[in-house]
Parts: sequence; structure tokens; C-alpha cells
Amino acid sequence: MKILVINSGSSSIKYRLYNMPSEEIVLRGMIERIGERNSKVKNHHQGLELILSKVGEVDAVGHRVVHGGEFFKRPSLINSRVVRVIKLCCKLAPLHNPANLEGINACRQLLPGIKQAAVFDTAFHQSIPGYAFIYALPFSYYKKLGIRRYGFHGTSHQYVTNEAAKILRKPLNRVNIISCHLGNGCSITAVKSGKSVDTSMGFTPLEGLVMGTRCGDIDPALVTFIMRRKKMGREEMERVLNKESGLKGLSGIGNDMRRIEEAARRGSKQAALALDVFIYRIRKYIGAYLAAIGNTDAVVFTAGIGENQGYIRARICRNLFDNLKNRPRVLVIPTDEELMIARETYKIIGSRQGGMER
Ligand code: ADP
Repeated sequence: MKILVINSGSSSIKYRLYNMPSEEIVLRGMIERIGERNSKVKNHHQGLELILSKVGEVDAVGHRVVHGGEFFKRPSLINSRVVRVIKLCCKLAPLHNPANLEGINACRQLLPGIKQAAVFDTAFHQSIPGYAFIYALPFSYYKKLGIRRYGFHGTSHQYVTNEAAKILRKPLNRVNIISCHLGNGCSITAVKSGKSVDTSMGFTPLEGLVMGTRCGDIDPALVTFIMRRKKMGREEMERVLNKESGLKGLSGIGNDMRRIEEAARRGSKQAALALDVFIYRIRKYIGAYLAAIGNTDAVVFTAGIGENQGYIRARICRNLFDNLKNRPRVLVIPTDEELMIARETYKIIGSRQGGMER
């Protein structure tokens, strides 16, 4: 069965064609600069026409969707109702869900009769219990505005959880791990009995770890303090927190961790401090999640930094487990969100299940 995986962003579409269940990649590519001036591809519809002309016939399509709110606890077969609900979730992810929907709508028009599935970044975290997902704000904010921890990178955390279970030779429902996705965006998830029970990203992907350009956890009072002191508007403030902070803001040399590690090695104090802050925050979270899940089988590292930067992994883990009776294994598992989407799509379309939880 040929499954096309689509990751549709605001100005790009990444795609992969898989032969399932063999998981062989038949074709992969990316269309960029959609809708930009001088670009030949004016919109997502045109972009997908181009992709379909390259991939030929497909049997099913799997779409990455960033936000499924509280509606989707697992991947869903796409129908008009599912599209409507994804649209409802746009207010929770105004930069991402509309672009994901563009991809879905274009495929529905161009491939009538071909089954399609939506795989949500938030779904894996829907098992997080109330005490871990509620913010201590007026309760009505949760009820009326949907303000709560949703978490992201769920497809990646779920993929490495499944792979870890195979490596540990344990059934999924007996696997306890701490999954560290350290790329440009960084998040860490506590997995108990194969399920996400807490994660560092929150209502948006800004919370938690120090990231390439995002600040992660800060005192919330700083936001209004900085706005007043620097006479900043809302948009500028959001831009600083999302695009000018994190490793970039701290190091002064950008968001590329390879360059920061190199600069620290050559004696840059500022780069060394950025590295220290990054590592310390991760150690703090791992400590908290060890307490949250108890006996931990493994701490798993994945994504650009997690997979490739052994020095950082070693510093994160240094003496961290010394006082534990059962020390977790440290695993490096390359993430593969596209393959996870292909697998989930194959599962849904194969078994004809899917649909919303409520
Ligand atoms: P994204 O979240 O954009 O997918 P990646 O998972 O590609 O990010 O991670 C990017 C981060 O990983 C950067 O800080 C980069 O410096 C770091 N990194 C270290 N080694 C590599 C590598 N071999 N390839 C890509 N990124 C790497």
C-alpha cells in the first residue's frame, strides 16, 4: 500500500511516499516558498498538484496536524466532521493548524475517494492527568477558553517510546521512560506504562526547556515588566520570547548548538553559560520526572542535539542517577515523525477505524 505523508506548513510542504507495511521510502521531498513573491507555487493546492504529479498513484494519505485540542486522543480518519473540529482548534494554534488544513483540503479535492488520516502532535499527551495539565489560573479559563497544558512533539515522543519498548524488550504498557526531544524546539516527556503523564511544553510550545530561540520557563510576571520597561507591544514581546531568546538570546551567536558547543570549547564564557543553562534545565526536568514516574527504565535522547551531541548528553546525565536504586539506561533513538504518521495511517486505513473521541 502506498501511503503519502504530508507535513504542510505555512509556506512549505514536506512529503514522503512510503510502501507499507515494508516501510520503504519510495520518494521524499519538499516544496518551499509557497505563496511568496516570485514563487511559482502560489498556494497549497498548487503545491500538492506538483507533489501528486511526482508521486503518481497513492492509496492513502497521512497528514501531520499540530493541534487537536481535547478532541483527538489518537489519529483520526478524515471526514467533514473531523475537518470542522480541526478548524475549531485553529484558535489554539493559529500559525500551524490553518496550514495543516490547507494541505488536507487540497488533498481532499485532488484525491477524491482516497482515504486520509490526521495524526496530531498533541494526541499522545491527552493521557496527562488533570493535576499535571491544569494551570493554577481561574478554573473558568480552562472551561471557557481551553487554557491548559496540551504539549507538543507528541508524534516524536510516541515514536521513541515504541522504539524504546522494542529495545528494552518490554510490552509497551510496562515501559517507563523519560523522552528528551532536543532539536531546535525542545521538549521532555514523562512516559509511565507507555503513556504520556507529563510534558514540558504547555498551552503553546514556548514553555519548558531552553530552546534554539524560545525562552522556555520564565517568571510570568516578567512579560508585563519587560513590556512596560521596554515599551513593547504584545506582538514584539511574543517575538522576543519565541524568536530572540533561548540559546540565541543567551549565547549571542545564534541558535545552532554545534556552534555554541564549539565556541564554549574555544573559551567563550557566554557560550559556556548558554550551554550550562540549557543542560541544567534539562537535568531539573529529568529529576522532576523521575519523581513523577518512579522506577524509570530509560532516559531517551532524540532529535538534532539529542541524537548527535554526545558531550551534551554526557553532561546531562553526569551523576544524575547515582542515588537511584535502579539506574535507567540511557538510549539514543533517532526520531522519525513521518514514519510514525505512515504507520498510524496504515493502522487506521487498514482497520477502517478512526474518528473522534468526543
Ligand atoms: P528541528 O526542530 O528544526 O527539526 P533538529 O532536530 O534538526 O531541529 O535539531 C537542530 C539542532 O540540533 C541545532 O541546534 C543543531 O545545531 C543541532 N545538531 C547537532 N548535530 C546535528 C546534526 N548532525 N544535524 C542536524 N542538527 C544537529
